[in-house]
Amino acid sequence: MALPARAPALIVGGGPAGAAAAIALARAGRPPRLLERTSGAHDTVCGAFVGWDAIAALRRLGIDPFALGAHPIHRLRLFGSGREVETRLPRTAAGLSRRCLDETLLAAARQAGAFVDRGRSVRAADVGARTIRTDDGEEIGADALLLATGKHELRGAVRPRDTSRDPIGLRTALSPSKQLDAVLDGVIELHLFDGGYAGLLLQEDGCANLCLSVQRWRLKGAGGIPNLVRALADALPAFRARLAHGDPVGWSAVSGVPYGWYARETAPGLYRLGDQGAVIASLAGDGIAIALESAAEAAAAILAGDGAEAYQGRLGRRTALPLTVAEGLRWAAERPVPRDLLMGLVAAVPALPRFAARLTRVGT
Ligand SMILES: Cc1cc2nc3c(=O)[nH]c(=O)nc-3n(C[C@H](O)[C@H](O)[C@H](O)COP(=O)(O)OP(=O)(O)OC[C@H]3O[C@@H](n4cnc5c(N)ncnc54)[C@H](O)[C@@H]3O)c2cc1C
Repeated sequence: MALPARAPALIVGGGPAGAAAAIALARAGRPPRLLERTSGAHDTVCGAFVGWDAIAALRRLGIDPFALGAHPIHRLRLFGSGREVETRLPRTAAGLSRRCLDETLLAAARQAGAFVDRGRSVRAADVGARTIRTDDGEEIGADALLLATGKHELRGAVRPRDTSRDPIGLRTALSPSKQLDAVLDGVIELHLFDGGYAGLLLQEDGCANLCLSVQRWRLKGAGGIPNLVRALADALPAFRARLAHGDPVGWSAVSGVPYGWYARETAPGLYRLGDQGAVIASLAGDGIAIALESAAEAAAAILAGDGAEAYQGRLGRRTALPLTVAEGLRWAAERPVPRDLLMGLVAAVPALPRFAARLTRVGT
């Protein structure tokens, strides 16, 4: 099918937000054009925790994470201030690699009729004119421009926040082992430390996804990723035990993650989705759900002829409480005294994390 000269809907970025919006628009008979800079399957900096609200949103798109082999997760195990506390999650979650999730969503978008362009990087946007320019010089206009570049800024549409002091996200995978299988069966672990946390879970390929969110001062003070990981292993016995098969390698990083930020306004025709619309602290494990929910809302708004401003306002109101609660938890988890209190509270009232998990959900 020939591409239209001016796309009715143009999506920049093919992560969960961009791909889910493409599926919804294409299935409603309005196939969008989607530009994704990676040309094939890839992992992204993420904890690979797919919460129950994200699972529900995926099922609404006809995708069942467990049919893809996702590892079921029923419990949360928290380490911090020398304590270990384990508690049941409100509902079953899933450990699924982003490589698998993102590729599945993009395949579904293509199958639904969306024009998915892989290996196409967008260099800049002119928000007023609703046009973008690709790395190879193509200029494309659109009636609706859906910005879904996630953790990455796009020149001309940068999120208005100084991210120079925001935390850094790190991710790698630990090779399958019987020891990790046994200890991580059905569990997500969060190891809390000064300036951040490490998250571990099993995913569909048998590897354990290891992600860290860490303040810059902590990473700089340690002198780089390998030194930080060694220092954490020295200080945190349970974390050290998870790394028994050797120092993790092959880290990916993303810097300046603007936790707590959400778009308070937008330009006509510019729909900000996923992390470009609202960024929840990653320890809440709800970023993928926000990506999917915002995609569904943006697609519905476009189909209904609703303005981008109305959509963005609704998303902001919907995410404000979860983002605030998640920021409070992150603040407490990263500091010694509040962390002591938090761990003490959780040990005394194991239902507390379930309550917090409910408050940090955007979806149902
Ligand atoms: C350390 C860490 C751990 C996390 N753990 C979890 C977790 O366990 N569970 C959870 O739910 N959330 C987690 N999150 C949050 C989650 O990763 C994000 O909220 C989610 O990925 C947002 O989806 P998105 O589609 O908006 O963006 P992304 O997933 O970042 O996707 C953006 C896409 O846009 C493409 N792109 C970027 N720039 C361009 C360009 N110029 N041109 C074309 N394409 C472009 C990228 O290649 C990418 O495919 C975590 C975040 C961090 C930092």
